[in-house]
Amino acid sequence: MSRYIKNNYVQFWLGCIIVIGILHFLFTGLEDKVTSFSPLLFPMLTIFLLVFHLFIACFMVMKYWCDRQRLYLLAFAFAYVGSAMLMVGTLSSYPAWLDLHQFNVVNYNDAMIFFTFRHLLMAVMFIASALLYFIRNRPLTRTFHICVIVGAAIYTAVIVILAWLYSSFSPLLSLDLVDNETRQYMLLWKEAISVALLLVWIVSLATLMIITRVRNMFWVGGNFICVCYIVTLAMLFLGGHAEDITWYRARLFETVATLLIIFVLLYDVFNLYRNSHLKYQQSYQNSIRDPLTRLYNRSYFYDALNQSLRTVSETHPVSVIVSDLDRFKRINDNYGHLQGDKVLQFVSQLLMDSVRPQDIAARIGGEEFVLMLTHTSSDAARQVAERIRVKLSSFDRANSDGQLPEPVTISMGVFTAISPETSAEACVECADKAMYEAKETGRNRVVVFQ
Ligand code: GH3
Ligand code: MG
Ligand code: MG
Repeated sequence: MSRYIKNNYVQFWLGCIIVIGILHFLFTGLEDKVTSFSPLLFPMLTIFLLVFHLFIACFMVMKYWCDRQRLYLLAFAFAYVGSAMLMVGTLSSYPAWLDLHQFNVVNYNDAMIFFTFRHLLMAVMFIASALLYFIRNRPLTRTFHICVIVGAAIYTAVIVILAWLYSSFSPLLSLDLVDNETRQYMLLWKEAISVALLLVWIVSLATLMIITRVRNMFWVGGNFICVCYIVTLAMLFLGGHAEDITWYRARLFETVATLLIIFVLLYDVFNLYRNSHLKYQQSYQNSIRDPLTRLYNRSYFYDALNQSLRTVSETHPVSVIVSDLDRFKRINDNYGHLQGDKVLQFVSQLLMDSVRPQDIAARIGGEEFVLMLTHTSSDAARQVAERIRVKLSSFDRANSDGQLPEPVTISMGVFTAISPETSAEACVECADKAMYEAKETGRNRVVVFQ
């Protein structure tokens, strides 16, 4: 157990170092090529990020909606919706992305206020989602779900409104984080808020790591985003002022990291689809096969026979072979039911191996089997039946690996349909009559219905 956890953590941190290292390397290369960045780059990246965050929020809500059980997904959804709303505020601090004449008007202080509240919202919501993940297996009432949703909505709304009130859009409250004239960070940002945000993200990462143990791709994504925000804040912490290159680096970093998260989420969807498809395949096979022998069951056999009879003709006949083990009750009586089951499995395997892939071998009763051979004449079907009969009678305890406690024989009846008017029930009835004739005339025989 502890090895498994350790392994997960080691892989996660290695992955983080590699991805962050590559991003750092790419950005340094870009910095060498471009002497100064376009002022449109920052709002453009913000627009990308806004769209990505809305996408993630929609994804989380839809994922929650699938079973309405995993409340932690909604905490993520509120984190990302709130973040997208606050990024609208950030965009309004850089009006040049829309209005050419506002080219030099950038409100760095507002941008920083929206940035601060955005991180406060997300980090707390990430902690909330980890805690909700912790209680995911407890029976949670509908009222609890509603309380969590209302609570998350109120918290998100309060943060967005507070950010707006503190920004220059409202005269009610104010917060000085950046001097818009000199573009220097104020002491409040440098010595209090940036450190506090960094700490909140560290707490968030620790909570996620301990609770989720990075156990699947989804939580690899969640933990990775925390690491990215810690790195982003550390970059800004080390950067000098609001126009510093680190802002571009931080935003580019956040955008690429978010894009990676989207890929992780898509992979998660693909994985879910693959698993549910596999489960569907398994349950479909269980619904058409007999659990003991894995031959097709009665209803599947009749469906397949009805299907084949639609196109039957003299040139394309369909043959049905009904078979019944001889004196099978004796095997059960002498060796027990378990041994009887082994005999049934042995005979079933022999039947499956004796027909072509397009033919159907089914178990229609206790020790009664039926074969449907498409495009097979009466004579060819008789030969197939004869081959199976001879092959089965050639086995004894020694050469069947103990599957047969003694030699077992089978009686078989063959019927061939050449007209689409013949019903599936009539086919089986005729083959059954031929099989009974085989029983009555000495068993271990093949009889063709005349
Ligand atoms: P006959 O040659 O006339 O067919 O004789 P028989 O003994 O094979 O015929 P009968 O129909 O009297 O007996 C069939 C036996 O098959 C009775 C039942 O206990 C056994 N049987 C049916 N289903 C199963 C099963 O799933 N497992 C086992 N072990 N036995 C089964
Ligand atoms: Mg029998
Ligand atoms: Mg029987």
